[in-house]
Amino acid sequence: MSRQMGDSHRRFLQTMMVNGIVDEQGARTLYQHCCETHNTQYAPDKLDEFIDTINSKLQPMFMQIRKGMSEDNGQQYYALVNMAETDVTRMSSDYADNELELFRKTMDLIVGSENGKASSTDILNSADTMTSKKLKKSETEHLLNRLVHDKWLSEKRGEYTLSTRCIIEMEPYIRTMYQDQVKVCQICHNIAFQCQICENPTCGIKIHNPCVARYFKGRSEPRCPACDDFWPHEIPEVRRPKSQSRR
Ligand SMILES: [Zn+2]
Ligand SMILES: [Zn+2]
Repeated sequence: MSRQMGDSHRRFLQTMMVNGIVDEQGARTLYQHCCETHNTQYAPDKLDEFIDTINSKLQPMFMQIRKGMSEDNGQQYYALVNMAETDVTRMSSDYADNELELFRKTMDLIVGSENGKASSTDILNSADTMTSKKLKKSETEHLLNRLVHDKWLSEKRGEYTLSTRCIIEMEPYIRTMYQDQVKVCQICHNIAFQCQICENPTCGIKIHNPCVARYFKGRSEPRCPACDDFWPHEIPEVRRPKSQSRR
C-alpha cells in the first residue's frame, strides 16, 4: 500500500537529512511547504502516511524517520535514524575512539542516575578512568560542546541529559546495553530518564515529567497508577507547544 515517492517526499527527506530532527509543528509546516512547492495534494491529517511512504523507500538503506517524545517538554519529534548501526559506532565517522569512550561513560552516568542527568564535574571525573587515550579537561569540555551541538546531548546549567534525538535513535541500544537499569514510563511505555519515581519501595515505577503533567491533570488526589499509593511529587503544569504562525 506504499505510495510512490514524489518530489515533495524527496524534499522532505532532504530537509530531514540536513536537520536530523524536527518537532511535530516543524514537520507539519515542512510537509505543507513540500506539498505546495511541488503542487501535490496536501492533507493536514496525513503527515504520518506521508512519512510512511518515505520510510518504505528508506528501509533498504536501513534508515527510518522515527517519532518520539521530548522528555523535556512532552512534544513529539521526528528524527531520521540509522538502523544499520546498533550502537554508538554510528557516530564513528564524526568522533574519535576516545571521544566515543567518553560519550559511553556519559551515557553510563545518565542512565545510572535517578534523575536522568550527569553533571559536568562527574563527566570530567569519569574522563580520568578512560582506557583509551585520555582527554584533557579542555578537550573534554570541547567534546561536550560538540555533542550538544550535534544533538546527542542537551545541557542546562552544567547538567547533561540525553537529547531527544539520542533517545529516539539509540533506544534499541540503550534497552540492550542497560537492561537491568533502564525503566520504561508507566504511561507512555518509552524508556524514561528525566522522570518522577513512585516512592513505594515495592513499586518504584517511573513516569516522565510531561506524562506526569498530562496524567494527573484534573485529578483531585494524585495516586500512583500502578500501586495506588499517594503520589508525593510536585505535579508539573501541562506545557502547551508554542503556537506558530500557521494554524
Ligand atoms: Zn512517558
Ligand atoms: Zn507506585
